[in-house]
Amino acid sequence: MNIVTMTTPNKIIKNATVLIKGNKISGINEAIPTEATIIDGNGKWLIPGLIDMHVHNLADIDFSSGYPTKASTIFIDTQDFMLQYIANGVTTAFELSARPAHFGQRNEIAKGKVIGPRIALAALIDGTDGSGNNAHSPSEGRQTVRIAKAQGYEFIKVYSGLNIETYKAIIDEADRQGMKVVGHIPNAFKGKIEEAFIPHFDMVAHAEEYAKQTDYFTAEDVQRFAKLAKENGTWLTPTLITMHRIADQSHSLDSIRQLPYLKYVHPLMQSKWLTSNSYNKGSSPERKEYFEKLIHFNRVLVKAFKEAGVPIVAGTDSGTSGVVWGFSLHDEMELLAEAGLTNEEVLAAATSLPAMWLGIEDKIGTVEVGKYADLILLDANPLENIQNTRKISGVFVNGQWIAKEKINLMLNDLEKRNRANKENYDWAKRKDY
Ligand SMILES: [Zn+2]
Repeated sequence: MNIVTMTTPNKIIKNATVLIKGNKISGINEAIPTEATIIDGNGKWLIPGLIDMHVHNLADIDFSSGYPTKASTIFIDTQDFMLQYIANGVTTAFELSARPAHFGQRNEIAKGKVIGPRIALAALIDGTDGSGNNAHSPSEGRQTVRIAKAQGYEFIKVYSGLNIETYKAIIDEADRQGMKVVGHIPNAFKGKIEEAFIPHFDMVAHAEEYAKQTDYFTAEDVQRFAKLAKENGTWLTPTLITMHRIADQSHSLDSIRQLPYLKYVHPLMQSKWLTSNSYNKGSSPERKEYFEKLIHFNRVLVKAFKEAGVPIVAGTDSGTSGVVWGFSLHDEMELLAEAGLTNEEVLAAATSLPAMWLGIEDKIGTVEVGKYADLILLDANPLENIQNTRKISGVFVNGQWIAKEKINLMLNDLEKRNRANKENYDWAKRKDY
């Protein structure tokens, strides 16, 4: 087996042996103990498990329609949901709109009841009444950060509706609390984006956050944004796949129906994406054209950010209609390569770099002795063709080996149950269950 270590600099160790003891890598090219179970990786390629830096996981959903009418909860099977990640070698995911149900999922995985990825949790703070927490003044912003810290959230996500002073206070307070900040560039900065780039604004969560700050999409804009991000140490998660899916849906919902992995998505979400799709319903020739412009702008932006030396990480915004958990990370990696990243840079964007941003580079992100055994065994070399990350022979999740055959059995079983359950999950009737 050949190892792509994804260390800095990257090393390729040919015809190697990796020893795994418990949940960690205990040796590379050492003598094999007689009691060891042997997995034959001859001719295959071992890479670190993948990290998706922008997800919205499906967890138990409360639909409260208010007293005295009926309120209901739809329970999401954590193993069925997490299988989508594991089947794709995604062993860590960054939840960017975390709520208590996500702690529940994470605990099920930590206790070993469910095989799933490691999960990092960010609390979202907005300034308008949307999802998550709201803060309208600096003192409210600081208090919301402190509460999030006390509740166990590890990161803060700033959102579009925050006013300027509240945004700045949130970032300052997050730094005091030792929490990194990711998010949108609030709309209030339009025309003065420079002011948003203050110390400890650590990452922008979509490429189009920059597009929203300009009406012209010029090459000068892109260069200016790249310089701002570089000088402020603000990383980028482009989430290119999301805009592609949204643009496709603005034309037709066939793009969702034809997704080969739609069948693994929870039937309630299949129903939602196909019957309550705002990108499709709200479509117009102007919007279609705007989405195409964004796709082009995002690609140019990624190239310019790469050339300016801004670290770029892979994230999908999965949970957006048509962006399927786990599977879509491979789509994103392909799009990053098309935008101009080398295959090695794409791999770094989905392994070592996210581990660094999350502050867990001593635990995951590379294939090295002492790290957790979160690994993917591939049938072909991903440095030659990034699409080879889809050719999964098996996955190690926290030291536990799951061969492709087992993954396929689990996926087939999930597909069957989803099909049988379809009638029971109609998005329009969700409050009646
Ligand atoms: Zn998102």
